[in-house]
Amino acid sequence: MKIIHRLSFNKNEEIESYLNGIGIKLEITESKLARLVQCYIDDSDGRWFEIQNKIKNKDISHIEGLEYSKEDFDNSSWFQINVSESVYPQPEGNLGYREATYNLEKYCPSCGIGLIQNKPFRLKADIKTKNYKLLGLHWAFDAIFIRPEAKEMFEKNSISGVTYSHPILDKSEKPISNLYQLEIKTILPKGYIPTEDEQVTCKLNNEEYERTLKNTGLVPKQGNTFCYRIKFLYPRTHMMTFDKKIFNNVPDFVKTNEWFGSGFSSVQVNLVSEKVYNLVTSMKWRGIVFKPIELR
Ligand SMILES: [Zn+2]
Repeated sequence: MKIIHRLSFNKNEEIESYLNGIGIKLEITESKLARLVQCYIDDSDGRWFEIQNKIKNKDISHIEGLEYSKEDFDNSSWFQINVSESVYPQPEGNLGYREATYNLEKYCPSCGIGLIQNKPFRLKADIKTKNYKLLGLHWAFDAIFIRPEAKEMFEKNSISGVTYSHPILDKSEKPISNLYQLEIKTILPKGYIPTEDEQVTCKLNNEEYERTLKNTGLVPKQGNTFCYRIKFLYPRTHMMTFDKKIFNNVPDFVKTNEWFGSGFSSVQVNLVSEKVYNLVTSMKWRGIVFKPIELR
């Protein structure tokens, strides 16, 4: 596992020529209207220490991300699963997707915590792409959909912790027959082990605002209502870490007890056992991203 730093900026000749001079490969995208310079630097790169000082207090965007090694995957017994979004058309109309699909009694629009699905997803149409066996939505990141042949494969291999139900067509309310939602019913007990800077409270000028949003000039609206519940930002420089005890005798698909996300969005993260990881990887299904997690 290594940390990768991504730097990007529009115009800064001094920094650009400095980075060029020390041999950092720059990716430059240029159009009539804008110019974007970006580069990626491995944390273990000897030049990173000096670069860090050089870019301090300059108008340069710095984002950290993780790159996992084969050993990280081999040594992990549980994984975060993300299904790439497809081109599913979201139904239009007055009935918002939240009201149509979720029980909103415990939902807080300020932090996004509390959506509980109690009705099938409504889709405008089945999707065109037939290549993907597991599919996602661009408006509900944690929803997973599955094609019948993949569902059969899961059933044949006794993948546990899921039920399958058809989403429905928005206009006709007819079930979409060649697509299922893979519903995950098991919520883990509490057991996320956060680092100090991951916790975010739903309140005015919260930790996230103080740390990051403040500098972007985004001002939270006064008069919002807040629920004072806590969620966590996704870690950027280490794996999601959980107490291993909470994984005793749980099925292959589970959701975290804790909510994760930034700003207005929150989800309970979908986790899968290595059995699911091994099966999906061996089938070479596309569009599915696994991230190893750490158990302590
Ligand atoms: Zn809230």
